[in-house]
Amino acid sequence: VSPAEFAELTRGIEQIYADLLPDRSGEVAQYIPTLRDADPDKFAIAICTADGQLFQIGDTGLGFSVQSTSKPFSYAMALEQFGSAEVHKWVGQEQSGGTFNDPRLSLDAAGKPQNPMINAGAIATLALVRPQLEVSERFAQVEQTWTRMMGRSPGFDHRTFLAERDTGHGNRGLANLMAAKEMLNVDPTDRDAPQKAAEFYFAVCSLEVDTRGLAAAGATLANGGVAPYTGERVFSQETAGRVLSVMGHSGMYNDSGEFSGQVGLPAKSGVSGNVMMVVPEKRLAVVTFSPRLDAAGNSVRGREVCRRLVQDFGLHPYAQL
Ligand code: GLN
Repeated sequence: VSPAEFAELTRGIEQIYADLLPDRSGEVAQYIPTLRDADPDKFAIAICTADGQLFQIGDTGLGFSVQSTSKPFSYAMALEQFGSAEVHKWVGQEQSGGTFNDPRLSLDAAGKPQNPMINAGAIATLALVRPQLEVSERFAQVEQTWTRMMGRSPGFDHRTFLAERDTGHGNRGLANLMAAKEMLNVDPTDRDAPQKAAEFYFAVCSLEVDTRGLAAAGATLANGGVAPYTGERVFSQETAGRVLSVMGHSGMYNDSGEFSGQVGLPAKSGVSGNVMMVVPEKRLAVVTFSPRLDAAGNSVRGREVCRRLVQDFGLHPYAQL
């Protein structure tokens, strides 16, 4: 986007921010203390373009656990290492029709997770990230990928990690079910392997980013896999395209279909209250942070920012043909 067009967008965002600031609807996630204790009034929006133009308003330097918004990038890492044919032997690419942690709808009859954006699918894709290395090196690989996208390193939210680990029975259950059907890429002779796979997922969910950093990660996808600040290629164009496609149909939990109808753009949300949306036509990413969530687990204000932006700037790809 040209500087003039970017300036127009930023004025639009300022207006949307002001309009949504008084909205106090929704409720912060309750399942762990770090999310329960989050300041519900915080609100931040950042836009980052493929060529590194950044606009930010509100609490954009505030750190939060990335949670489910790590999933598109874990999927990208698996695709880079194994290619889509191999990756999709382990994880599907269809809408699950359920919540992100649904014990009945997450896996198909063969035990394969429906897509990489639900918890089971994220555990399965992370099991494909440098599986031959020990877990600390695998985690370092994930951190490095985030550093390359954002141009600086992510943090780590220890309290969130400990709480996710202590309350993650459902995720451990999903990992066990996949392993039982030999649908998890782990050592079949290690009875603790599914637990370790779930724990790796908890650690990745606990990476700490801010709205600005996450916008640069989103802009990497909007830029066909090239990081906006450094110009470094992090993912292939094909990988970036595949990731955006799956975000387009399954990125907003069990609200993904309605979101697609209303907004029509690829997006991913996390329970800490972040939403990352990519606008392919403009080669940019919009990231919001606001902890109050709707019934599906999406940030109320974040979802509304996406809807307003698309409406105000005519960005729905099919609505004005
Ligand atoms: N880490 C949490 C879980 O696995 C939530 C992930 C998310 O953002 N939905 O249940």
